[in-house]
Amino acid sequence: MIPTDLVGVEQEVSTGALPERDRIGELVSEAHRRYIGDQSGTVADYIPILGAADPALFAVAVVDVTGGVHEAGDALHSFSIQSISKMFVYALAIQEHGHERVRDIVGVNNTGLPFNSVMALELNDGHPMNPMVNAGAIATTALMPGATPAAKWERIVAGLSAFAGRDLALDEEVYRSESETNQRNEGLGSLLSSYGRLEGDSDAIVDIYTRQCALNVSAHDLAVMGATLADGGVNPVTGERVVSAEVCRDTLAVVAASGLYERSGEWLFEIGIPAKSGVSGGIVAVSPGKGAAGAFSPLLDSAGNSIRSQLAIGYLSRSLGLNMFASAPPAGAVTEGRS
Ligand code: GLU
Repeated sequence: MIPTDLVGVEQEVSTGALPERDRIGELVSEAHRRYIGDQSGTVADYIPILGAADPALFAVAVVDVTGGVHEAGDALHSFSIQSISKMFVYALAIQEHGHERVRDIVGVNNTGLPFNSVMALELNDGHPMNPMVNAGAIATTALMPGATPAAKWERIVAGLSAFAGRDLALDEEVYRSESETNQRNEGLGSLLSSYGRLEGDSDAIVDIYTRQCALNVSAHDLAVMGATLADGGVNPVTGERVVSAEVCRDTLAVVAASGLYERSGEWLFEIGIPAKSGVSGGIVAVSPGKGAAGAFSPLLDSAGNSIRSQLAIGYLSRSLGLNMFASAPPAGAVTEGRS
């Protein structure tokens, strides 16, 4: 039985430090240099406009919790945030409603099924299970405060902009392209409604979800947004508190379980940090107490995860010491057992 009654028990943290800033900068450049030549994978085209992305684009950025920014490649190139929006909207939902309520309504477990799965809902009495796939993300968007769809949308834009430290804007072309081909998400919204798991008009909620996916960000923005979650909820560049430290902890736990679609377990096993990807090619990876990496390259693997973004972040996890599960005995310790 997993304990859920630890409310009120002080949360101590166990985090280390990153290398010196110059060294971080060198490693970010090296992550970009190592993988720039990798042309494997394909650009997503189930949302027609995404098929037009330039496969040569490649960006790597790291922002540390002291606000240091390190970038290589096309770090300021804009692309639609897509699925990566799910983790930040989820954080805003927990901030608003609290740990228990969001856990009960949306769930926290990996479905083990593709991100747009209808079967995952049917197998669980319409319970979305996982806020990092479409059904759970639509249910999360419905939890945004606001009496009207416009008010909910404003709250999302303001919240994600606070994470990024600048005003994010909608990519109208992506929004239109996805809206025209959005029957599957509309189906998920209707199914959630039919099970009584979505409040409000499902098409209006799916429309807000589609808009949130079409907000433009860069790899730089992703690194700042992730670093805010690494920094107990305070944006390390602007100094603004966006969410509480508890919300960061909850969000990163769910992202660790489900951030890379059905490859999430493999990712955690190999790379060891919570990360979320999106079909336009972005990935954000967060190392609590240290910082975050944002990467972008539109060439995807068969699960929809950007190949070069995974490679670059994998390299940085190793070389910057981001893996949450890695440890070493203290220098000079006796390794054959201590008395
Ligand atoms: N807007 C996309 C969809 O709902 C997001 C998918 C993704 O990035 O995984 O299909």
